[in-house]
Amino acid sequence: MKQIESSLLLSSVIDLIDDLIFYKDKHFKYIGCNAAFLSFIGKTSAELLGKDDFELFEHNVASQFRKHDKLMLAEGKIRSNEEWVTYPNNKKVYLLTKKIPFVYDGINTGILGISRDITLLEKANQKLQEQTLLDELTQVKNRKAYNLKIKSLLAVYERYQTPFSIISIDIDDFKDINDSFGHDMGDTVLRNFAALLEKNIRETDHLFRIGGEEFVILSESKTKVDAIQLAEKLRQIVAFTELLSEIKVTISLGICEVSFGDSPNSIAKRVDKLLYEAKSDGKNKVIYHSKK
Ligand code: GH3
Ligand code: MG
Ligand code: MG
Repeated sequence: MKQIESSLLLSSVIDLIDDLIFYKDKHFKYIGCNAAFLSFIGKTSAELLGKDDFELFEHNVASQFRKHDKLMLAEGKIRSNEEWVTYPNNKKVYLLTKKIPFVYDGINTGILGISRDITLLEKANQKLQEQTLLDELTQVKNRKAYNLKIKSLLAVYERYQTPFSIISIDIDDFKDINDSFGHDMGDTVLRNFAALLEKNIRETDHLFRIGGEEFVILSESKTKVDAIQLAEKLRQIVAFTELLSEIKVTISLGICEVSFGDSPNSIAKRVDKLLYEAKSDGKNKVIYHSKK
């Protein structure tokens, strides 16, 4: 009697838990679960018992589950994993699942699992991660994002010789803007400037704010000839657009294409030299090969 009571109590308790609780035998067939798990798969307990994941979930999801079941059984100890899972009703959730071996009939070892829906936490984490790559003032990507992107473009270039180009942009005489209109107006000009560039580039052109009034565009798959066209287009758009009422700026640009043996440093050096030449040559210019 006591044993029946305690097992009833236990099943009531696990039914109250929001986490998904399930247990499978050594052949990976379900032998029990709680109410939350039944609502997760949208089945009754009669429809679930005796079935395995391949009869309940789509093939990819079932393979993921099976892989973790097998790893846990092989290790013979508690195992955690996190994954995106699509409910049979197509709702997508991020689950933290812990699995542990358990003996279900005195001899055989099965799998006891508990999955917690941590979708909100995962989304918050992703957002935080994205924010560390964004420039606070302009909301375009920052220097850290630039370092990551150029490394990945270089890796692709080394492997497949896919070209890319670098456009280094510096606003001309920006100090004067601050001096004439104040630092806050200067900030707004920078924000509008970044938005103007972003609006006039394609998805494969990646804009970064590298420092104060210095920006870089990494043009994926673009050769120098294409990048020169883009740079010249941007130079003109910027020169003709009011960023704030009656405030216009001009920009100087240096351009280079990746070449064999390049590193992030060698590229930065080359393009900075060209940008410097654009400045000393009178500003509001695009320079793509050194005259010196
Ligand atoms: P040049 O044509 O040679 O580039 O002249 P410049 O005045 O643009 O260059 P310089 O590097 O001497 O000055 C950059 C100015 O940009 C000075 C600095 O106060 C301003 N600046 C840098 N970051 C910010 C920022 O976040 N907000 C504002 N408002 N100004 C900034
Ligand atoms: Mg400047
Ligand atoms: Mg500067």
